[in-house]
Amino acid sequence: MIPRTVPTWQIKSWQEELKQLIQNPKTLIDRLQLDREWLEPAEKAARHFPLRLTESYFSRIRPGDPHDPLLRQVLPLGEELEAAPGYDKDPLDESRFNPVPGLVHKYRSRVLLIAATQCAINCRYCFRRHFPYEDNQLSRPEWQAALDYVRQAPEVNEVILSGGDPLSLGDKHLAWLVQQIADITHIKRLRIHSRYPVILPTRITDELVGAVSHPRLRTVMVMHCNHPQEIDEEVGRGVATLVRAGIQVLNQSVLLKKINDNSRILATLSESLFDIGVQPYYLHLLDKVEGAAHFAVSDEDAKTLYGELLTLLPGYLVPKLVRETPHEGSKTPVSPA
Ligand SMILES: *Cc1c(COP(=O)(O)O)cnc(C)c1O
Ligand code: SF4
Repeated sequence: MIPRTVPTWQIKSWQEELKQLIQNPKTLIDRLQLDREWLEPAEKAARHFPLRLTESYFSRIRPGDPHDPLLRQVLPLGEELEAAPGYDKDPLDESRFNPVPGLVHKYRSRVLLIAATQCAINCRYCFRRHFPYEDNQLSRPEWQAALDYVRQAPEVNEVILSGGDPLSLGDKHLAWLVQQIADITHIKRLRIHSRYPVILPTRITDELVGAVSHPRLRTVMVMHCNHPQEIDEEVGRGVATLVRAGIQVLNQSVLLKKINDNSRILATLSESLFDIGVQPYYLHLLDKVEGAAHFAVSDEDAKTLYGELLTLLPGYLVPKLVRETPHEGSKTPVSPA
């Protein structure tokens, strides 16, 4: 185990941490002292979608517990290889809303830029697990084409950097991109969707804040935390750095079977997020992506659980329960039972 408090001289830069991701199922299983029975399915499933996580995230997994809610988000399982009707490779039909490479324009006032094709973690339920990232790895001219598209779309007032994970880009690249976006006069807000505040909190530095802040834009960070056990002191410190700089921090979660499909866990998650300065935003129903059917919570259970959540929290701490429907103009709200 990595000790939770390390002397300052041992603190690694985020770039160094990225070079030391855990990518070998055997290493993960051995270090967590799990039964060998988990190994073969993990290796098989990892061939389709590799294992990938940071040491930082690893340090929050309890050893010896194959059902740990953080482990279940990253450990490849045999179930991923079972076919499930209704689950496919591009569940949101995103390729239809991909007018130029690297850009998804589905909702009227905001565009999503696939700013980076890498993540520092591979979440097993990820709806982009089959996304053709190779075709969306942008060259400079393609960046320009994506920015031109935004320039010629006056109805767009918000640019969302997504991915992959946009914070996989270095600060210089981000600063360049943010300047380009700020130069487009009809853009008011810059939004960044990232899992880094949770999985590699050392990524959140004053340099990063400088790179993504611009006097002309409101910057919003939507982080992605699914379980209160994902929040530790380091995560709190990273968020504090963003909040201090006037960046609004929101959170979205995915409702995941055997991970957070419990109203008390979700209530604790909202409370813990708020304690560190984060406003709950969305609770998403799972996108039906091939390989993730074992994470699905039925609509009926989701609605019941959401009804309970409403009784446990003040209204401002209840995330909106939504699903993503391929051809709707917004996320679709789901009402409680
Ligand atoms: C979710 C999403 C957005 C942002 O939607 P909000 O409701 O504004 O958070 C924008 N574009 C795409 C393609 C999305 O999937
Ligand atoms: S960080 Fe986000 S985009 Fe990356 S694998 Fe996880 S859910 Fe998918």
